[in-house]
Amino acid sequence: MECDVAVLGGGPGGYTAAIRAAQLGAKSVCIDKEPELGGTCLRVGCIPTKAWVQTAFAIKEAEETFSKLGVQVGAPNLDFATANQWKDGVVKQMTSGVASLFKANGVEWVKGTGRFKDVNTIAVDGQEDVTFKQAIIATGSYPLRPPIEGLDSPRCVDSTGLLAQQDVPRRLVVLGGGIIGCEFASILNRFGSEVTIIEMLPKLIPMEDDDAAAELAKQFKKRNITLHLEKQCTRVDDNGSSLTVHFGDGETTEADLMLVAVGRGPLVENLGLEEIGVEFDRRKGIAADEHRRTTVDHIYAVGDCAGYWQLAHTAFREAEVAAENAMGHEAIVDNRGVPRPIYTDPEIAAVGLTEQEAREQYGDDVETGVFPWVANARAVMQNETVGWVKSIHESRYGELLGVVMVGPHVTDLIEAGVVALDAESTVETVADGMTAHPTLSEGIKEAGLVALGRAIHLPNRKRAKATA
Ligand SMILES: Cc1cc2nc3c(=O)[nH]c(=O)nc-3n(C[C@H](O)[C@H](O)[C@H](O)COP(=O)(O)OP(=O)(O)OC[C@H]3O[C@@H](n4cnc5c(N)ncnc54)[C@H](O)[C@@H]3O)c2cc1C
Repeated sequence: MECDVAVLGGGPGGYTAAIRAAQLGAKSVCIDKEPELGGTCLRVGCIPTKAWVQTAFAIKEAEETFSKLGVQVGAPNLDFATANQWKDGVVKQMTSGVASLFKANGVEWVKGTGRFKDVNTIAVDGQEDVTFKQAIIATGSYPLRPPIEGLDSPRCVDSTGLLAQQDVPRRLVVLGGGIIGCEFASILNRFGSEVTIIEMLPKLIPMEDDDAAAELAKQFKKRNITLHLEKQCTRVDDNGSSLTVHFGDGETTEADLMLVAVGRGPLVENLGLEEIGVEFDRRKGIAADEHRRTTVDHIYAVGDCAGYWQLAHTAFREAEVAAENAMGHEAIVDNRGVPRPIYTDPEIAAVGLTEQEAREQYGDDVETGVFPWVANARAVMQNETVGWVKSIHESRYGELLGVVMVGPHVTDLIEAGVVALDAESTVETVADGMTAHPTLSEGIKEAGLVALGRAIHLPNRKRAKATA
């Protein structure tokens, strides 16, 4: 089969690249080995996880909010089978949506495992070879497993294994306090599991703003999620019906299931990359420039197999850029405004620099302003006052450097910060603009006002630190 653009992998990076290339006039082919399109994100990542987040949020509302608002429904009871049906239905709708988009755009889906045969050919298991003028690699990532004794027990699962559970584990140990570990800890705690997180670094979500990580740890502790920070897991014993997890200095905890969430590695092996001269590193993935071009000019790489971020939306954007360049246009990826959403309860969302990064880069020329949700009317009427918005800017020109938020619906709100950073806005632009009232979005303007020492809705006009 001959085509203009062949895309290897049908996740967010791959399907976006295939559609964008077709929009630009290419005969576009996407090779994916799974029974449904959509990759990790749609099948076993973002989408099913956030469907569970929605069930967890409904339980929380029923437990903590409905009766306060005058709605009497009684104590909530999780029907896990129905929650899973809901999750699976959402996944089905989204994955079949991608298949429909392929049809609408004339993209051909070749089902099978692909491997480069030469610089213009991909061999696909059980199918004829795909010959291409340009190719885009979007093979994604896989869950890492540290070499810890006993981790090969079937009771030690990765995120895909946890999402496939038919019963809520009574006691769940989460190995790794990063984004995936914390999201599942938050969900399963709401589903009724006793949750313990073991993390070897001193904070949760190690790459995120210190105040945001501290706020999450504080709220997790309030929700009786046990945290063992700066502790290494040393061994796991499977006792036949449960696990004994050894960690730290001779400590142990019992569990019925363990989620291993210590990170994901780029899927770069067995693709024939060495043979065709595409450079890669087993840890960092495929080397690609801002055009997403690899060391072979007409071959591009996008998403988890070739990037630092491991996010669906960075894969989307990289894919658009790669497809446009493959079709003779000139596009680059600008990484200043990458939103960092975390769907824990409370949610975290950030864009730009963390406060620590800003201080490292700009020294004393950094100002911050923190606006707590307790002073926002919409948050109060929603009974969701945990957390705050932090605005970070450099004080010489007032350029906005970052926005960090913890609290209600912040993963939706962060787009305002993304647009502001992309537009190289000053803190005045954010603080002097209008936001609809009463809305949560007012929190972002208010944080800007606090940063400028002009807060109207706080008793003390300037609060420099988050209240973690
Ligand atoms: C539990 C979990 C939750 C997540 N939540 C979020 C979130 O809320 N927000 C967010 O932005 N990101 C989230 N992510 C990350 C997100 O899923 C990934 O960043 C995203 O899927 C990367 O897209 P991709 O196209 O690079 O790779 P993938 O989505 O992994 O797709 C790669 C595809 O290529 C196929 N493939 C690989 N090799 C071959 C081959 N040789 N031949 C044929 N096909 C092949 C794979 O089967 C797969 O279908 C989450 C991840 C996990 C695991």
